[in-house]
Amino acid sequence: MDRPLLISTIMDFAADYHGEREIVSRTVEGPIHRYTYRDARDRAKKLANALLRLGVREGDRIGTLAWNTCRHFEAYYGISGIGAICHTINPRLFSEQISYIANHAEDSYLFLDLTFVELVEGLADSLSSVKAYVVLTDETHMPDTSLPNAMCYETLVGAESAGYEWPELDEWTASSLCYTSGTTGNPKGVLYTHRSTVLHTMMVCMSDTLGLRSVDVVMPVVPMFHANAWGLVYGAPAAGSKLVLPGRQLDGESVYELMESEKVTFTAGVPTVWLALAQYLRGSKSTLTTLERLVSGGSAMPRALTQEYEEDHNTRVIHAWGMTEMSPIGTTGNFKPGMTELPAEQRYDIQAKQGRGIFGVEMKIVDDDGNELPRDGEAFGDLMVRGGTVCDGYYKGEGGESFIDGWFKTGDVATLDPDGFMQIVDRSKDVIKSGGEWISSIDLENIAVGHPEVVEACVIAVPHPKWDERPLLLIVKAKGSGLDRNAMVEYLSDKVAKWWLPDDVVFVPELPHTATGKLLKSQLREDYRDHALPTIDAAE
Ligand code: ADP
Repeated sequence: MDRPLLISTIMDFAADYHGEREIVSRTVEGPIHRYTYRDARDRAKKLANALLRLGVREGDRIGTLAWNTCRHFEAYYGISGIGAICHTINPRLFSEQISYIANHAEDSYLFLDLTFVELVEGLADSLSSVKAYVVLTDETHMPDTSLPNAMCYETLVGAESAGYEWPELDEWTASSLCYTSGTTGNPKGVLYTHRSTVLHTMMVCMSDTLGLRSVDVVMPVVPMFHANAWGLVYGAPAAGSKLVLPGRQLDGESVYELMESEKVTFTAGVPTVWLALAQYLRGSKSTLTTLERLVSGGSAMPRALTQEYEEDHNTRVIHAWGMTEMSPIGTTGNFKPGMTELPAEQRYDIQAKQGRGIFGVEMKIVDDDGNELPRDGEAFGDLMVRGGTVCDGYYKGEGGESFIDGWFKTGDVATLDPDGFMQIVDRSKDVIKSGGEWISSIDLENIAVGHPEVVEACVIAVPHPKWDERPLLLIVKAKGSGLDRNAMVEYLSDKVAKWWLPDDVVFVPELPHTATGKLLKSQLREDYRDHALPTIDAAE
């Protein structure tokens, strides 16, 4: 039958078939809030009525600056459900980028958590399209704010009835919008449709992708403003999983406490979060007692961290890769037959790869002339993707150079192996080009963080008169560690080829990150462009 793939059907499915399953949120106000999928549907419908009363129509953009909580969840469904576009904005961006994004998208309303009232008050003058601000709280917590036309979410929703029939939209109707953080240039918008979102939801739920089930308790630590929380806020209701939304407290202790109290079985987030959690667990001598699977993506998951979760907590680490442009999941690293029985070291080698291709995403690697390279695990080239969940252009037609002959050029350089696993060698702009050969910054970082006294490592290219570029290793070391340059080089020397060894090691108190938790290498390259490598004199 010709039935459209609509986001509202996900909410209806959850409410009709898993109506008593809970959504638990750590609210921005503090207390834990719990209700069911049935309650969530009623509230999303009330919000739909409220939006229509405010004059919101199909295609209008509604911005959100919000953490993972039930109110944001309702906004996802209420906004898209009426045919409007839920535009999630990353609050960790610079404020100029936030106003650029909201203006570029021409958001007509902005929903915001209490946490961001002050930030938005400072920006309001520059937000030219926003008619009113909806603060995601109740009357008791409603702040005294200078925001023009500020409204209280609970008052808005409370005035409406849950009587509403989701419209039968065309499945190609735009449903949501998310900008990539744009470490260079302006952020670019990725517009999703109901169709791409429902397809992605089905792909995510497949056993070998994320394998969500009704018996699972799913906690997206990855924010809902970061590529739809990797599809989990659609996947969990489509599977009937209990959903645990951690709010704004993403430190190790808070995440751990919620995981244990709600018996979380499945979680997903960036390596920085898993590093913080591991540090907390070590320090407090705690173990994860219910967590079965931990998905890590967004940047490379250090092998040593995978090993720690597997061995100390009996938690399976699933490395995943994706992009905002891909809805976002592209690969996940579930094992194939025989792999679970391999010796631990070999398993960690597999888990260090970014995962294998999933149904619905086509991948290939190509050389500079666009010729496809072999899938032998050795050859590396530009990773290209296509599929029903991959965008075919940026919002308002920007960044066209990434779309070539029906494929999207990811900007990642990768290998594909005969088992279908993809491994990122580097982001094409981060790879170190030394004497015509390439050095992978990711590989070096991964090995460096294997040192017990290294908390975080970053490798960048520094200009070199003879070799063009050479690697510089920046390290944040553990408190009280006496680690020095020579000891670090010594540690690396039997683990990488000699010409890969960094020309210098610099110890820094902290490293800068992007709004999505990646190392901000563009800034570091700028900061260290004149760094005097000890090897330069020798070359001249
Ligand atoms: P943004 O660019 O806005 O930070 P994205 O999440 O879309 O947000 O970033 C996608 C990029 O992140 C990928 O192209 C890749 O370079 C990197 N990335 C994602 N997952 C991984 C991973 N598991 N390992 C290494 N890099 C990753």
